[in-house]
Amino acid sequence: MKFCSLSSGSSGNCQYVETENLRILIDAGFSGKRIEELLSSIGVNPSTIDCIFVTHEHVDHIKGIGILSRRYDIPIYANEKTWISMDGELGKLKDENIKVFETGEEFQLKDLDFCTFSTSHDAVDPVGYCIYNKKTKISIITDTGWVNDNMKEKIRDSQLYLIESNHDIKMLKEGKYPWPLKQRILSKKGHLSNEAAGITLKEVLKGEREVVLLGHLSKENNIPLLAYNTVKNIIESTGINIHKDIILDLTYRDRTTKVYNL
Ligand SMILES: [Zn+2]
Ligand SMILES: [Zn+2]
Repeated sequence: MKFCSLSSGSSGNCQYVETENLRILIDAGFSGKRIEELLSSIGVNPSTIDCIFVTHEHVDHIKGIGILSRRYDIPIYANEKTWISMDGELGKLKDENIKVFETGEEFQLKDLDFCTFSTSHDAVDPVGYCIYNKKTKISIITDTGWVNDNMKEKIRDSQLYLIESNHDIKMLKEGKYPWPLKQRILSKKGHLSNEAAGITLKEVLKGEREVVLLGHLSKENNIPLLAYNTVKNIIESTGINIHKDIILDLTYRDRTTKVYNL
């Protein structure tokens, strides 16, 4: 299985997963044109995308979905409440491209198995994804105010984690955002701090060369190196060596990561 974060951040999110038989996107939160450019930059023709999965209805996750679905006849998968709240945002889609799953349901598409789980965010029914191909597992957990035990159980035993590391708590508190917005981000239905991402990872990582990608970094309330070092220090407190035992990398708001071969 291959994975590439095409870009991730508060301004847009789009992740790419490839197997022998499938090419999928998780979220498409940029313009269609931008996603085409990002895919082309890793050598993927946008017309070869088989389907797009939606985590939740916020614009930084769905901006390009309508245009890509119409342009390349791509089916879109989301739960029912998310479909209802996206109504009017995506433009007209073909009926057969509207695919509905139930949160918590497991389903299979060609050589991929999917499991979805609820996250805690100010959206109608936000989800994270676990994606399995043979014995390889990828977990994607962004846009969640906290990670409860159920979420930890779901994502455990992955070979690649994309986890939100949205903000530094001190930078957010001292920054220029209005207080209600600060409260929203800090709440259980907001976004994960660097520290919370580190604590979650500390509990699930085994030090067996898992890939960890920090996602959804805030432009205003975080610094990539600060996110990296905060998470690194927390993980290393368990005795895991960040260079030897795991692969810890950042994602970028305006460019792709490398393509990880799992
Ligand atoms: Zn969101
Ligand atoms: Zn988001």
